[in-house]
Amino acid sequence: MKITAVHTHVLKSPLAEPFAFSQGWVRQRCATLVEVHTDEGLIGWGEAFAQGLEPPEIAAAAIEHALKPLVLGADPRDTEVLWHRMYHATRDYGRKGSVVSAISAVDIALWDLAGKAHGVPVHRLLGGAFRTRVEPYATGFYRIQGQGEAARLADEALRHHEAGFRLMKVKLGFGVDDDIACMQAIGRAIAGRGITLMVDTNHAYGRAEALRLGRALAEHDLRWYEEPVVPEDLAGYAEMRARLTMPIAGGENEHTLYGWRDLFAAGAVDVAQPDLGSCGGITAARHIVAMAQAHGVAVNPHVWGSAIAQAASLQLIAALPVPHHSLFAQQPVLEYDRSSHPFRQHLITRPIEQHGGWVDVPDGPGLGVEVDRSVIERWRS
Ligand code: CA
Repeated sequence: MKITAVHTHVLKSPLAEPFAFSQGWVRQRCATLVEVHTDEGLIGWGEAFAQGLEPPEIAAAAIEHALKPLVLGADPRDTEVLWHRMYHATRDYGRKGSVVSAISAVDIALWDLAGKAHGVPVHRLLGGAFRTRVEPYATGFYRIQGQGEAARLADEALRHHEAGFRLMKVKLGFGVDDDIACMQAIGRAIAGRGITLMVDTNHAYGRAEALRLGRALAEHDLRWYEEPVVPEDLAGYAEMRARLTMPIAGGENEHTLYGWRDLFAAGAVDVAQPDLGSCGGITAARHIVAMAQAHGVAVNPHVWGSAIAQAASLQLIAALPVPHHSLFAQQPVLEYDRSSHPFRQHLITRPIEQHGGWVDVPDGPGLGVEVDRSVIERWRS
């Protein structure tokens, strides 16, 4: 089987109501998709993660100009070989950021093709499913004003709960005092409902503020505290782990086995959060998962992309071992963004949704999803 064509699609949709996380205002939802065609008529789909402030054209240009020539004519089942080919060829200007997101998109499409060629879901190629359904957690609590929104966020927690979520992640990083006030309001609203919270500041603070916030939140019994400091400050991460009581999570802005090697060596996280669309794809996630397991670190992928990224993440989560086996071991969960994303659900013919507090792992060949081309035509930039 040979790759005969690689097409990139940049999708954009302006948001009717912009929202903020600690790093800025999100005014549009974007996706960089790639489709890889073969001489046997199979098509594989991949996605480069475009975070809220990231121009999706960067990854699209890297795919078009740097990666496409490297994979045309190759056998898409050679996922490991092609990953290293793409990484080596872009090393001097890549290694992190959007270039690795571009590699991620192509790599995911290759795994989709490999699964379709073998007639099995990707998790089968990864060694099988430890689980066939995953508990989702609601990511939300973005801001529409910025500060002083504690009451509105407490209402939002109840809405997520009514929708079936038992786990929720609160966006913080809008000033430590404002953060504490929001968490107190949310805590009061959900008391007695069996809800577990996480928090995420998107590296809004330096060590002193991050510690002050972490200490103030000890009473909430958090499942994790995400990105407390900037991704470059691995010693700061280790300090958070040493001085705070809750598990520390991070890694959505780290890339490849090389970046993650340093993160694990520093003892930076209890919970590793590679994003399939930016860590280097499924191939890189395999490398990272093996290292995490060796370091006794749990893996919970970061997921904020479209349905392609959701499907790829579910395939990986199905195949994730737990780092600490027991009869009732804590299982990985699926990040389920609840913010506005006009084309995420519609991009595939059977949307990825939670029912009764669970999301099923797609069991069709490859990623297990079918793309609706009319949605691509509608939102193509
Ligand atoms: Ca995050």
